[in-house]
Amino acid sequence: MNSRKYKAVILDMGGVLIPGPADLHSKKGKKSEDLGKKAESLQKIFKTLFSEDFSNHWHDLECGITSIQEFYPYFKTFYYSHHGEEYLGAIEIFSNHTIPGRPESTVKPIWFPVLKKIREEGLKVAVLTNNFWIDSTRSEKTTPLDEKHYDIIFESCKLGMRKPNRDIYEHVLSELKIQPEEAIFIDDLIQNIEGANQVGLTTIHCTDIDKTISSLEDILEISLKNDNFEKEQLLEASKITTCPAN
Ligand SMILES: [Mg+2]
Repeated sequence: MNSRKYKAVILDMGGVLIPGPADLHSKKGKKSEDLGKKAESLQKIFKTLFSEDFSNHWHDLECGITSIQEFYPYFKTFYYSHHGEEYLGAIEIFSNHTIPGRPESTVKPIWFPVLKKIREEGLKVAVLTNNFWIDSTRSEKTTPLDEKHYDIIFESCKLGMRKPNRDIYEHVLSELKIQPEEAIFIDDLIQNIEGANQVGLTTIHCTDIDKTISSLEDILEISLKNDNFEKEQLLEASKITTCPAN
């Protein structure tokens, strides 16, 4: 009955609810050489995104100071300086997750019955994502999530704060009106897990969805996979393929 101790489950978006870039690259391509090339191109993109000399541009994007449109020319310039070659990919690589119907924007169906059960137990379900504005007018949709499945969605670009900094976790707790020990936080990036641990949240580092849900069951001491688990997953999956995710 540990679910009574907890009042909210807070989930990351990319790499937890929807696929992350690494998930998508591992599934694309049929030939091993294609996979090798894609992995190499992803590594190059990440090298630029997470390099020290580029960090202020990445910060400004995730904190909503710039949009993808404004960020992209900087990215191309730094990519050239890091790798000695032009970045030939399209700007869409950064915003595909907001386009309905794409694999990048599809919530993994396994989550729907789990989120429903968590809410039935009286806990809140929140999302905390480091994301960004897509266009310079800040009018395009910034997540593919259907709000009905979540009590509240926290977006770094709208808050001007980002994970793994302490202030964003404290803001989320304050908005949810809960204490750190009443929250469970799930993220695929270890830095974000470490940031949440420092604030005192209970955390699950998501490297595998099934294991993550099992860990959640252990912490909450409730079963999240009911008898209809597989049937509900299939039903949700069929809904996703026939209607856009918002
Ligand atoms: Mg993530």
